[in-house]
Amino acid sequence: MKPVRLRAGSATDVGLVRSNNQDQYLVAEPLYAVADGMGGAAAGEVASAIAVRTLGEELARRGGSLTPDELLEAAQTANRAVWEESIAHSEMRGMGTTLVAATLVESGTLAVINVGDSRLYSMRDGAFRQVTVDHNLVAEMVAEGRISKEEGQVHPRRNIMTRALGVEPEVPVDLFVEEAIPGDRFLLCSDGLPRELSDDRISAILRRLSDPSAAAKELVHEAKRRGGNDNITVIVINVLEDHVEPPSLESAGSLVAGAAAPPVSGEPESESEPGDEETKLLDVVGTGSAKPGEHRRERPAKEPRASLVTLRVAAFVAAFVLIVAAGAAGVWYYARSSYFVGVRGNTLAVYQGRPGGVLWIEPTLNHRSSVTTAQVLEASLASLHAGVEEPTIAAADAYIANLASLFQRSRAAAQPPPTTPTTTTPSSTATSTATSTNGSSATISAPTTS
Ligand code: MN
Repeated sequence: MKPVRLRAGSATDVGLVRSNNQDQYLVAEPLYAVADGMGGAAAGEVASAIAVRTLGEELARRGGSLTPDELLEAAQTANRAVWEESIAHSEMRGMGTTLVAATLVESGTLAVINVGDSRLYSMRDGAFRQVTVDHNLVAEMVAEGRISKEEGQVHPRRNIMTRALGVEPEVPVDLFVEEAIPGDRFLLCSDGLPRELSDDRISAILRRLSDPSAAAKELVHEAKRRGGNDNITVIVINVLEDHVEPPSLESAGSLVAGAAAPPVSGEPESESEPGDEETKLLDVVGTGSAKPGEHRRERPAKEPRASLVTLRVAAFVAAFVLIVAAGAAGVWYYARSSYFVGVRGNTLAVYQGRPGGVLWIEPTLNHRSSVTTAQVLEASLASLHAGVEEPTIAAADAYIANLASLFQRSRAAAQPPPTTPTTTTPSSTATSTATSTNGSSATISAPTTS
């Protein structure tokens, strides 16, 4: 699988009807999130702000990247943070927020979590689809086939959410795992966007504007133009190929240019552009027969020509060697500049290199930790066996320590009964795997109309 990186553009607007913008968003590569707050007075803004801020903090605490499990945990932490704030301040009682977040995890996959009716869409080869499933009364009725999609679009209760972050101490969070290959695009948005624009309109704008910032701005602009009944927030993400050594190649290129321009010989004639020189020389040769006299005497022209050719060959060889060397250095740097936590025997160990190695460069063991595979959550084992990349040895050690303490805490929590049962309730869409943590059913138990 090709290594990928993400490039994002974002835009938000209060819209034309609301007096304040309760949407918040986070663009903190490789983590992106949109939260749409709800609650009286300023409470909605507070809820979405806390949710987004907590996600950012969790990302930083984990050293700048999150596994799918950590993303789920971060959402749960954000839920608790909003809930605790709401019980601490009576005027904020009942506030909550949607939260949709996506992060690039190892091996070109995007982990997506969702609570509420903000959305993540994907677009591949022009095919546009909604990845997340809205936690919305009417959307659920449509999904269950109780009403048609068309009936749903005009249903009077279409804005009633069945799940939100921060209204209870725990919340079931959906997780989707999406493949992310170069050329793919993802769109995170609050409901203010699909409320005004159909999927067709949204995808047409994405197709028209490849730049993520331009697309995000245009989507918000268009949603505003078509009503702007709600706050509108959009993040557009482009999945790009992550070249192994783009900076090295570029610098090699400039080195080549530099080497070719001032030739090593220092001959005065070669001061001019090599191309010009060649044309002149050809002219001399060409007109040579016409003016047999003096020009003939300038025969030594043949000499510089030959030396110019060797010079060019030399420059070309030098450039080639530089490119190869820079490329090899780039690969070497890429292959060795990172660390990862893996499993050695039955203990967790820190390796230098990339999981699985890069070309001919195999990872090497840096050190073993004192933590065994029996001292971490079973859910972490798969990613550990695949190798969890960390930028530094310290980060790798911190990651191991986090895994161990997470395990301790979960064991401690397992003793008294009323804590997080980690049942997973699959509720999947066609191409995504979706699971809910915390098997408890809908948070805001929606009145069921049938
Ligand atoms: Mn909204």
